[in-house]
Amino acid sequence: MALEKVASVVFRSLAPNRPHHAQWMLTRKCNYRCKGCNVWREQDATELSTSEVIRGLDALRKLGVVEIVFSGGNPLLKEDIDMILEYSSRFFVTTVYDNGSMAVEKVEALKYVDFVAISLDSLDPEKNDYIKGVKGAWKRAMNAIETLQERGVRVGVSPTISQLNLHEIVDFTRYFLNKGIPVWYCLYSYDSPSTDNQLFAIGKKNDEFLITDNKAMVNLCDSLIAMRRENNNIFITNKLLEALKTFYSSGMRTWKCRALNNFFIVDHRGRVAGCHLQEPVASIFDLPEIWDSNEFKTLRKTYSTCNGCIYLCYIFYSLHGNVRGNIQLAREHWKNAKLLLKEPMSQYR
Ligand code: SF4
Ligand code: SF4
Repeated sequence: MALEKVASVVFRSLAPNRPHHAQWMLTRKCNYRCKGCNVWREQDATELSTSEVIRGLDALRKLGVVEIVFSGGNPLLKEDIDMILEYSSRFFVTTVYDNGSMAVEKVEALKYVDFVAISLDSLDPEKNDYIKGVKGAWKRAMNAIETLQERGVRVGVSPTISQLNLHEIVDFTRYFLNKGIPVWYCLYSYDSPSTDNQLFAIGKKNDEFLITDNKAMVNLCDSLIAMRRENNNIFITNKLLEALKTFYSSGMRTWKCRALNNFFIVDHRGRVAGCHLQEPVASIFDLPEIWDSNEFKTLRKTYSTCNGCIYLCYIFYSLHGNVRGNIQLAREHWKNAKLLLKEPMSQYR
């Protein structure tokens, strides 16, 4: 990460009333068939062109966004993804997800980004492939992690915690930490059936995945808090783990949702919403003008009392959604930037 970018990231992190984080679901194309996912079931070929994506990135820059996570579908299936990642990485802390199937082919493009998250749900190949709905998914993901690490790309592994893998997450985490691979968690959640706009829907209700063993979830949070004392490659904060513990032990939410405040999402057509469960409220191109509008202020108030989901990324950015939280996140990025700067710059540019 260039020093100039690090300085700009810290500067933008400290600006009040600006959104820190955007998740951009670049495409709904996907080559996997995950059981807990709606994306591959509801396809839509209408997408922004490359030049529109670049224009959208300029709008996000104008708005003061610090961090972009590209997801999908599989974002690496998006046409001209190389160009998009290169452009995004110039200005934003850029993360891209892959299900493990495309990363090796796209390794040159991935050298631009700050972080690549490979989704993998189990150390057991059969269980992982069952969840992903595709044979060979485990092998491809493991190969992708190894190849990216060898080629100097900052790669992490991202399991979605569900009832199916809850009891193995500690072992899973240890396994990858021992290999020097950071772990970044998702939590199984699903979109409520009241979502009319299926083109926006991601999580599909599946009883197999629903966490029913609340005690095990609380114990997992305790274990991860203890493990974080020894290893800062566990990409989750204690504050978030404490919030999850309270939620799974008493059902109480200790956070107020900050959708359309500190975070928002963009879909493959460039529509913006507070989160993917809410209706689109703007086009990405209009966002800098509409961000401070009364309409958005009203929506923020509505979302702040919503308890419609437990998607981990949304809880994360809700908990850390103020200047103090941004300072903490900026410190994390600074720490990561230092890690990156330790390695030869030629690997990243
Ligand atoms: S969870 Fe991701 S990889 Fe799996 S089908 Fe959905 S979009 Fe594809
Ligand atoms: S709690 Fe927040 S992120 Fe979840 S559905 Fe409601 S507005 Fe969206």
